[in-house]
Amino acid sequence: MSLTLTSFGAARTVTGSKHLVEYGKSKILVDCGQFQGLKALRERNWQPLPLNADNVILTHAHLDHCGLLPRLVQQGFRGRIFCTPATAELTKIVLADAGRLQEEDAERANRKGYTRHKPALPLFTEADAARAVTLLQPVGYNRVVPVSPEITVEFLNAGHLLGSAFARVRIDNEQKTILFGGDLGRYGRPVLPDPTAVAEADILFLESTYGDRTHESGDDAARLSKIINDTYNRGGKVVIPSFALGRVEELLYWIGYLEAKAMIPELPVYIDSPMAREVLSEYRARLNELDPEISEMASRTEREAMAFSTSRLRVVATVKESMEVQESKKPMIVISASGMATGGRVLHHLRRTLPDPHNTILFVGYQSVGTRGRDIRDGAKSTRIHGEDITINARVESFDSMSAHADANEIMRWLKNFTRPPQLTCLVHGEAGPMDTLKARIERELQWTVKTPNQGERITL
Ligand SMILES: [Zn+2]
Repeated sequence: MSLTLTSFGAARTVTGSKHLVEYGKSKILVDCGQFQGLKALRERNWQPLPLNADNVILTHAHLDHCGLLPRLVQQGFRGRIFCTPATAELTKIVLADAGRLQEEDAERANRKGYTRHKPALPLFTEADAARAVTLLQPVGYNRVVPVSPEITVEFLNAGHLLGSAFARVRIDNEQKTILFGGDLGRYGRPVLPDPTAVAEADILFLESTYGDRTHESGDDAARLSKIINDTYNRGGKVVIPSFALGRVEELLYWIGYLEAKAMIPELPVYIDSPMAREVLSEYRARLNELDPEISEMASRTEREAMAFSTSRLRVVATVKESMEVQESKKPMIVISASGMATGGRVLHHLRRTLPDPHNTILFVGYQSVGTRGRDIRDGAKSTRIHGEDITINARVESFDSMSAHADANEIMRWLKNFTRPPQLTCLVHGEAGPMDTLKARIERELQWTVKTPNQGERITL
């Protein structure tokens, strides 16, 4: 019987991960992610999905991996969605939020008439999201479970996000193994463990987001403490726009660390994002899946008290409380979403903090071209928020080392765990430039056979 692999997304692009495995009568879809970014890509989210899949395997809860599951279900998929328990919980949070935003965006577009689609429709609704998550089938790490009569899956910790996994897919009769790398985490970072070493696979699907670069290195603690201390000495606030999923936890780790080492004063720290609040409670409930530094703290009580905590941490619960934090002029640290300042509560904070030179806006994640975050980071003198032009007098800092994706050297380090070369390595989840650079490097340094599949290209083995 032949084995066929087809990528319907993340093929010579970063987003939209969707890979179909066909063997005999079995059809398994690995990830069902949204395309994000440029409009030409986003329009692909409306195309029909590979509906004939029996079941889905989900590597992790980022939208570019899980974000079209509600559409798949809306279009008739009734199988199961296998993933780790933490991925199941985070996916519920992420999809509900995405469905709500889709509905709000469509409603606003119709109300303001700025759409050529009449009427503008949401990609999916919150109700679609709720239906999709009923199909989630949690399976713990390192347990082999059948996903069809001929195919099994086992999840290995990828160290990229709470619950993130490599999916080791085995075709039983052929005794072939396909390792879907999902997204690859990093080495030696706090919060998440290093990616699990894998010694062999016949076919490897590997991300290549940072295939042509290395993350800035340097002393994160020293840099962050300088930014916080400088702002405190000016009597200002530090506002950090942050991605709600994963990044908040790393920030809390660092702030808690700096406090414990007395490198910064004990300042009030506010987390103001409804989604970040839910995600944080998932991280706290699953400390044993995180970095050994956290999971091996002496006792459970100690872990719960110490993990993701600072001496004056407050997770904002209500809009009223959020407004009080916005109005306050006292020194404090505010962490709020969205990470690129394109929407969410952080806009209310920015509106009030940007005009005042005592304050600091600190960017800790990638800022895409065309976003408000990118404009502010690049030195804009003003920005329009909620219909009002806001002058920017606050200090603007950025910190690029907190990426959750392995860089080129980390990818090579992980590949060196293989004791025999895969028969075929498929690079996915990257722009053409980084992907081709990484392909050349793997061919040169490891002499492996590497392909970069195109959208819809069928690879038969
Ligand atoms: Zn990811």
